[in-house]
Amino acid sequence: MNTDDRERSPVGRIAPSPTGRLHLGHARSFLLAWWSVRQRGGRMRLRIEDLDAERAQAEHIDGCRRDLEWLGLDWDGEVIVQSKGLEEINARVDDLLRRGLVYPCVCSRADIRAAQSAPQGRVTSPYPGTCRDKFTSVEEAERKTGRDAGLRFRVPSGSVEVVDRLAPRLEVDLQSEVGDFLVARRNGLPAYQIAVVVDDARQGITEVLRGDDLLASTPAQKVLQEALGYAHPEWVHVPLVTDRTGRRLAKRADDLSLAELRAGGTDPRAIVAWTARGAGMPTGERASAAQLVGELDLARLPRDPVTLDEASLDALREARL
Ligand code: GLU
Repeated sequence: MNTDDRERSPVGRIAPSPTGRLHLGHARSFLLAWWSVRQRGGRMRLRIEDLDAERAQAEHIDGCRRDLEWLGLDWDGEVIVQSKGLEEINARVDDLLRRGLVYPCVCSRADIRAAQSAPQGRVTSPYPGTCRDKFTSVEEAERKTGRDAGLRFRVPSGSVEVVDRLAPRLEVDLQSEVGDFLVARRNGLPAYQIAVVVDDARQGITEVLRGDDLLASTPAQKVLQEALGYAHPEWVHVPLVTDRTGRRLAKRADDLSLAELRAGGTDPRAIVAWTARGAGMPTGERASAAQLVGELDLARLPRDPVTLDEASLDALREARL
């Protein structure tokens, strides 16, 4: 698809992970993603990213859907549940293995921490390369160590440049800053980076608008797209919402959850108006998401995090239908 076609008919996605309740920060990035695509007549997909099997919960999958509908967002086609489409992702992982672009790794988090002598509890980048060129096959790795093996992608040398519509140009040397990263976890499930890349490609996504906490993952996704022969989507990383102290909102901050606001009787249009105001869009107090299609201008979006102060939060809590 060339640039003109993409401009004419972009395909975006909303890709929540059902590991907790969605909060106002999610509402903001999802609304922006939806406006950006809808106002150019594009399509929007909803993909539930539930590969973090230990934390993903069915109740949250349902909750995500209801929150989005409540906000007035819609999507094209079925809801895509990532864990139901693993064959294609696993096939691409196998491809990389056949081509020698990934290698088996039996390191646990604790091993990596020890190799890095990092302080407790944190695995820092880069991966020290312990298993690189150590085994000739997954079978050999597992037989020799008695452990399950994951697969790591051999990151290329040199710097990777990410051009984003909003965020400053990013240049990362993956070898020194990230190291070889996992594409298959030791429990056999594909890791986030490859799951996102394969799903974006097969679902025809041309625009990835998401919170800028994921900007750091983009160079890894870019090199995977290159290895798999996929086109790059257009990236738009938007600043996060933070609380008064400058911390990003966490999914477990239940008082800020959409479910809580919904249950408390908040008018969702107040959330739409708060998002629109914070994005420099002209807005009436009671416009629905659909009524503001056409008003988003990314050039006017502030480049700094949006602070959610107590007064705004109280106003949102009290906004009644
Ligand atoms: N599912 C991811 C999250 O909720 C987002 C993935 C993406 O946008 O690439 O953090």
